[in-house]
Amino acid sequence: MSCQIRIEKTKTPKQKPDQNNLGFGKYFTDHMFIMDYSREKGWYDPRIVPYAPLELDPSTMVLHYGQAVFEGLKAYRAKDGRILLFRPNKNMERINLSNDRLCIPQIDEAFCVEAIKALVSVDKDWIPTAPGTSLYIRPFIIATDPYLGVRPSDTYKFIVILSPSGAYYPSGINPVKIYVENDYVRAVKGGTGFAKTPGNYAASLKAQDIAHEKGYVQVLWLDGVEKKYIEEVGSMNVFFKINGEVITPSLDGSILPGITRDSVIHLLKDWGVKVTERKLSIQEVYDANSNGTLEEVFGTGTAAVISPVGELNWMDKVIVVNNGKIGETAAKLYETITGIQWGEIEDKFGWTVEVE
Ligand SMILES: *Cc1c(COP(=O)(O)O)cnc(C)c1O
Repeated sequence: MSCQIRIEKTKTPKQKPDQNNLGFGKYFTDHMFIMDYSREKGWYDPRIVPYAPLELDPSTMVLHYGQAVFEGLKAYRAKDGRILLFRPNKNMERINLSNDRLCIPQIDEAFCVEAIKALVSVDKDWIPTAPGTSLYIRPFIIATDPYLGVRPSDTYKFIVILSPSGAYYPSGINPVKIYVENDYVRAVKGGTGFAKTPGNYAASLKAQDIAHEKGYVQVLWLDGVEKKYIEEVGSMNVFFKINGEVITPSLDGSILPGITRDSVIHLLKDWGVKVTERKLSIQEVYDANSNGTLEEVFGTGTAAVISPVGELNWMDKVIVVNNGKIGETAAKLYETITGIQWGEIEDKFGWTVEVE
């Protein structure tokens, strides 16, 4: 799609929030990107317009059957003033993977990266500058036919909104306590686990509630068939360092293919660390803990980048990982990835994309 993006600037800019109290996902910038889809026209009328509520017919399909996909990435303000995105092409590649699963038409990946860059550029004064802060970017697509029959919609909206967000670790990285969920499941092979689609999140809330009640921050999901193999931690991919080798569950259809996961695998290989993608059972992790070879556990995702795990509870058997402290692999990965994202260390893989 080569058509121009129409830009309509707001006449009533909002007051910007206090940079030291941003939290996550609470504030939104002055503009948003929208384009529409119809069967006849394909994707059309790409535009940047003032941020505003959407007007939707109550019968709009997405509200009833959840036909939608989303993405999440960030824009970072480097010390030298440059604005950097981290592997945005990967997010657009993945939204098309999700689109395919949800019967949503494909988007033009390169054009949508340009649209994101254009929107970030229009709202660049909203990118916070305090250490660790960033501008969270949320692209999403919703089914918009006003219709209650169950079928794929004929019309859609692709929308991008921006939210200035605070540092994930305002007071240093603290390992989290994780509850291994043994009743509820997140996804099964053949389902939608590999797609970034709202229904997966709706289905995960109950287990998260229970984990919170028990004093745990997140849920570790086991496979949906045997409840034996490790899948993900909350909405992060998960890595285990056992006897010097880093192991992460392979992408078998029920796991979200994380971009941070992919970056971690690249870096570890580059450093000469043995990294293996394979099935890993929770029993194997507990056995490694018993024989003293479980060195580190950490989650990976855009929000936290690296989230070390300090404690696991599986059926009331509690293990403490690395004395509840962050491990050296997790720490080095965190320093390296955030260093690349904020333009502070060499980007030898060409992962960052500059916004003019
Ligand atoms: C988004 C997401 C991840 C992490 O993906 P990144 O691309 O690294 O941010 C992991 N698991 C789930 C379920 C997700 O939705």
